[in-house]
Amino acid sequence: MGSKKLENFLEENLGDLKSRGLYNVIDPLQGANGPIIKIAGKELVNLSSNNYLGLATNDKLINTCIEATRKYGVGAGAVRTINGTLDIHVELEEKLAAFKHTESAIVFQSGFNCNMGAIAAVMDKNDAILSDELNHASIIDGCRLSRAKIIPYKHSDMDDLKRTAKEAKESGRYNKIMVITDGVFSMDGDVAKLPEIVEIAENFDLITYVDDAHGSGVLGKGAGTVKHFGLSDKIDFQIGTLSKAIGVVGGYVAGRKDLIDWLKVRARPFLFSTSLTPGAAAACIEAIHILTESTVLHDKLWENGNYLKKGLKSLGFDIGESETPITPCIIGDETKTQEFSKRLNQEGVYAKSIVFPTVPRGTGRVRNMPSAAHTKEMLDNALAAYGKVGKDMGIIE
Ligand code: PMP
Repeated sequence: MGSKKLENFLEENLGDLKSRGLYNVIDPLQGANGPIIKIAGKELVNLSSNNYLGLATNDKLINTCIEATRKYGVGAGAVRTINGTLDIHVELEEKLAAFKHTESAIVFQSGFNCNMGAIAAVMDKNDAILSDELNHASIIDGCRLSRAKIIPYKHSDMDDLKRTAKEAKESGRYNKIMVITDGVFSMDGDVAKLPEIVEIAENFDLITYVDDAHGSGVLGKGAGTVKHFGLSDKIDFQIGTLSKAIGVVGGYVAGRKDLIDWLKVRARPFLFSTSLTPGAAAACIEAIHILTESTVLHDKLWENGNYLKKGLKSLGFDIGESETPITPCIIGDETKTQEFSKRLNQEGVYAKSIVFPTVPRGTGRVRNMPSAAHTKEMLDNALAAYGKVGKDMGIIE
């Protein structure tokens, strides 16, 4: 049945992963991805979702989504450039530009698609991209797609960025040079050094590209990392996702009008993949409205993040250098980290382990992402589980 070559390939590679215990088994949720989730009939405190503000289950967003679905249908019916651009897509783009303090914005079907489209629309084989070594997979793939020379620099190491920028510039080999970074790094919760990056970019005439998937809704009173540093007019590409703090799905680039006009004719996922569903577009508009009206959810997220951090620290865990509510609990050894996460699950907490190759060897961690929707009681239950498992496994005293 089917290709023998394929069968052999799968047997060898899948078999290898499974035998080494590295095959990722996906646990389906029996209901919404809220602060409490249900898996295999068991309720768990959820510390693994990017639904930072709890908007994925917000009543206003749900009602807006239903209303838009009734009005426009479940699908947009075409790609944006044929006749899949609905008035609510345009409204969403206008709202995002205002939210990000830029002239214009363009919406994609996901943050991943956004990076696949935006980088290659501007960079080509005559160019170079200076890329933080811990940048997200979608940035790496987007850079590869552009065929530009990719020059990684050490994570948030500004001397290394300066060195690579100088070498690239002085080599005279490249037409354009771009520096590209996550705004907030999701494995450690640290924030990119944007003021220094902008200074280096100005010295070496670099195009600046910030993927703020984890900073929007979280930093800058909700407006993101670029706003947090007051650099809205200094960053060429502000990338965001609509799937994390915004709680829905989709991605966007915010920037100058001529850049966005160019992306609308050159970014391939925009040109060749059907637009965001009407329900999603409408829900995103509502989410931005909520975020710009009030900082209540943003403030609650930080309160919960700080509460969890303080609790884990006083239990004696190593919580790294996070500057945001993302809180890693660094265990170290890969097997021990996986066991720790499994034991937390038995104690009613869903917090995924992250190990090599996603993070460097020996820095395995259980990553916690509290949200504005968690109650103190939920967080106390999680901390009690951490205390019990930590002591049982000899990680804390
Ligand atoms: N960029 C970064 C930095 C991310 O962390 C993610 C999501 N994991 C993405 C892009 C992709 O976003 P989306 O889930 O909207 O495709």
